[in-house]
Amino acid sequence: MTKAGIFFHPPGELSQSGVLDVGLKCAHSCRFCYYSFMAEAASGKSASPGSQHGALRQAAFRTTEDSLRIIDLMADHGLINFDITGGEPTMHQGLPDMVRRAVERLMSVRVITLGQFLLRQTPERQGGGPHLLDTLLEAGVTDFLFSLHAATEDGFHEATRGSLAKVLAAMDALDRVGFQYSANTVIHAGNLDDLPRIAELSAARGVYHHNFIVFNAYYRWDSPESIAGLQAAYTDIAGPLTRRRAPRPARVDEPRGQPGSRTGILRRASARARGRSARHLCARAR
Ligand code: SF4
Repeated sequence: MTKAGIFFHPPGELSQSGVLDVGLKCAHSCRFCYYSFMAEAASGKSASPGSQHGALRQAAFRTTEDSLRIIDLMADHGLINFDITGGEPTMHQGLPDMVRRAVERLMSVRVITLGQFLLRQTPERQGGGPHLLDTLLEAGVTDFLFSLHAATEDGFHEATRGSLAKVLAAMDALDRVGFQYSANTVIHAGNLDDLPRIAELSAARGVYHHNFIVFNAYYRWDSPESIAGLQAAYTDIAGPLTRRRAPRPARVDEPRGQPGSRTGILRRASARARGRSARHLCARAR
């Protein structure tokens, strides 16, 4: 069902969207990560104090062959789009092949990521080859869902042990080729003051949809002590989430140069990417 290009999932009908979970392996350390405890449970080992994310490092990825088989099954069952999630799916060597298989099977595919590895060089082309982002665009990826949990480098590092600069650099690379994407923010006690600035970061870029998700204390967060400093009350969230900032002066775009001038394949992919921007999951006519 579509209305003005927006897809609605008709109540009572099966969804045509799927999720490919490539496994819990992850190099990041988000404070609020539910998966850290799931990985620990899957390993059958208890985490020692202070090692919440240890099991994520040891977790295995689903094989590429298995992942491709799942994509084929989703296509065979009539699904038209799916998310690839982990763990951190950009650490999976088979990710480009998964995207290619989705395209072959005429499905849209979105990659959910903290965005830390997209601009690193792919292993097979060390020393001058394309970034992983180039490879995924060339493969035909339809969308990214970036985790944007803070508006400052220190805040992002505190929340994830990752780098805000890296995720913004990946977003900026997509902006240069006119490729839209989406973003997620987990609202927790540590980023309440950042929420308006996170929204501004997002609004200044090619984010077409931004989810603000309140941290939910379940799995191992089952006591007031365990959620201290993480969970915020809705009454505390409402203010910063709805705060209006003073109108900003009209944006003076930085000189953009040639689209994709930083990476060769991005330049070649730019025209194709612009065409794809209308295929995003929430805004394409079906
Ligand atoms: S990126 Fe995802 S899987 Fe990795 S630590 Fe953060 S929330 Fe957990």
